[in-house]
Amino acid sequence: MATSFHPPQRTLMGPGPSDVNPRILEALSRPTIGHLDPAFIALMDDVKAKLQYVFKTSNLLTLPISAPGSAGMEACFVNLLSCGDKVIVCQNGVFGGRMRENVERCGAQAIMVEDEWGTPVSVDKAAEAILQHPDAVALCFVHAETSTGVRSDAKTLCAMARDAGMLSIVDTVTSLAGIDVAVDEWGADAVYSGTQKCLSCVPGLSPVTFSERAVQRIQQRQHKVQSWFLDMNLVMGYWGGEGKRAYHHTAPINTLYALHESLCIVEEEGLEASWARHQLHHRALVAGLEAMGLSMRVEAEYRLPQLNTVNIPEGADDAAVRQALLSDYSLEIGAGLGSLAGKVWRIGLMGHAASRKNVLLCLHALDSVLRAQGVAVQSGAIDAANEVYHAI
Ligand SMILES: *Cc1c(COP(=O)(O)O)cnc(C)c1O
Repeated sequence: MATSFHPPQRTLMGPGPSDVNPRILEALSRPTIGHLDPAFIALMDDVKAKLQYVFKTSNLLTLPISAPGSAGMEACFVNLLSCGDKVIVCQNGVFGGRMRENVERCGAQAIMVEDEWGTPVSVDKAAEAILQHPDAVALCFVHAETSTGVRSDAKTLCAMARDAGMLSIVDTVTSLAGIDVAVDEWGADAVYSGTQKCLSCVPGLSPVTFSERAVQRIQQRQHKVQSWFLDMNLVMGYWGGEGKRAYHHTAPINTLYALHESLCIVEEEGLEASWARHQLHHRALVAGLEAMGLSMRVEAEYRLPQLNTVNIPEGADDAAVRQALLSDYSLEIGAGLGSLAGKVWRIGLMGHAASRKNVLLCLHALDSVLRAQGVAVQSGAIDAANEVYHAI
């Protein structure tokens, strides 16, 4: 007898996927229709308009790639780069390293600007690299580094690239809907994101947006894009503006219902209100963690509200603590990645998961698990968090 899979009910406070709003799960279960059905085409148009709202852009080429955030990343690189191009890659965590991989796999040369993990991309170092390599075609960086919980100065970096005649490629997978992402105001050229972080949707789609400059470069390429699936010249034929849509691939119909629902939720709340909510719960979480005697990894100025890196306290067993949180509280938090493995926990407050209920659950669970495992913590975490809530 075949047995259906019934996943456990978790609270997802890691680096993604984040808790999915039940409204989105309900949207997923609506009837599947054809991907060229007029009703579906209308939905696609609305998804594009809503993505323009969350990205704060009027870019016509704004759509979800039919694959997770990593595919949006790859789409930006393979469409804009050609063999032999030079690209400045700013790296201050795991995902900057993946940008480098993408550049090199395009046969392009990556000029690395490296910053310590846990600090933002250095604007000065990036400026120096631009001076040294005026022939670079693009500057790329991660706005919100999920591996460290750091926000970099996207506005300044994009402006520097533009002034130097370079394109900017920006990773906003974790930032979109959690903190301000302002594609047009920044003058960013190729920007990608994901659905399972602050949009609180199911994983599997990657919203992207390209400026007019970027579109021109894609249309004027000398050589075909190396990836057939991600070639925006072809994808545009299906997702493109007016007129008839040509079959390219079968869109993930129901997942697009889910994305649409999640964008409706963001619109209803309002972008600014969503950022403010992330900020509030972040402040409460940090107040609670610090009251316990734990310390945050990142300087306050650069912290991401949606991804909190906290130093693992002396004497705590990283894996055992996370395991106990999962088995005793059905609560998932993230481990450290790369050079921060074993040194930090990553507590996500993304989208639907950024709530008072989750902050208080996490503080209570962490407090009791640490005590049970013999780690000395101070009391008062819940009170400290509630003080933040009562002050508003
Ligand atoms: C999660 C993430 C990605 C990759 O997204 P997937 O949906 O896992 O493919 C890329 N960049 C950053 C900054 C991320 O946090």
